[in-house]
Amino acid sequence: RPSVAFEDVVFGYEPDRTILHGLSFEVPAGQHFAIVGPSGAGKSTIARLLFRFYDPQSGRILIDGQDIRAVTQASLRAQIGIVPQDSVLFNESIGYNIAYGRDCASAADVEAAAQGAALMGLIERLPQGFDTEVGERGLKLSGGEKQRVAIARTLVKNPPILLLDEATSALDTRTEQDILATLHRVSANRTSISIAHRLSTVADADRILVLQDGRLAESGSHAALLRRD
Ligand code: ADP
Ligand code: ADP
Repeated sequence: RPSVAFEDVVFGYEPDRTILHGLSFEVPAGQHFAIVGPSGAGKSTIARLLFRFYDPQSGRILIDGQDIRAVTQASLRAQIGIVPQDSVLFNESIGYNIAYGRDCASAADVEAAAQGAALMGLIERLPQGFDTEVGERGLKLSGGEKQRVAIARTLVKNPPILLLDEATSALDTRTEQDILATLHRVSANRTSISIAHRLSTVADADRILVLQDGRLAESGSHAALLRRD
């Protein structure tokens, strides 16, 4: 359960337009932080930097105190599980999707599929024997089920850091709350960062960072931020 820190991170996609203006924050190991803010504030940019799709122009990003530029891509990807808003599934069974595009022919794949399905409340949706010709195909699932599958396939890789980038934002409130409750149960041992645009989505976070125009506008617990409004 590593910590995650941004130290004075300055970043822009183009040289003349800075998106993050010296951003600093630290997520202690095992805690759940949330980043909220209006569209365009730079929330997804933080996710992309953490995954090293880009590197900052200055400042550092640390996982457990180590600059992520000193870590191999493979090890970075093993440490961070990311769930985007619109996860793309294979048009195959739930088991196949959770086992990450493997056909569940091996015992390890079957185990991964079953474990992921159990974690995300999908176990009764797994077809007998994980036959990819049987049962619901990825494209026929509801939006909520798709995201549950996407989260399950990330969780079975057991990443110590979970990064949810608007993972439930496209869903209706009821479905979103159901999934968040499940996440809360299964991610107690992980360091997690949830990116969201609604404060209500992240009410159970240990700390919420409010990002505005690439700067930290304020931070605190859900209750503290509501008091300030
Ligand atoms: P948020 O997730 O808070 O909505 P983003 O991090 O996606 O915000 O975007 C922050 C700013 O960076 C926006 O103004 C957006 O237009 C710009 N931006 C995002 N991606 C790119 C890109 N690949 N190239 C240039 N500008 C980008
Ligand atoms: P506790 O009251 O037990 O301290 P927390 O709210 O701190 O509960 O959450 C415990 C753990 O659950 C956090 O460390 C975090 O990893 C995880 N967690 C909580 N809420 C979420 C969420 N919405 N998404 C992902 N993980 C979460």
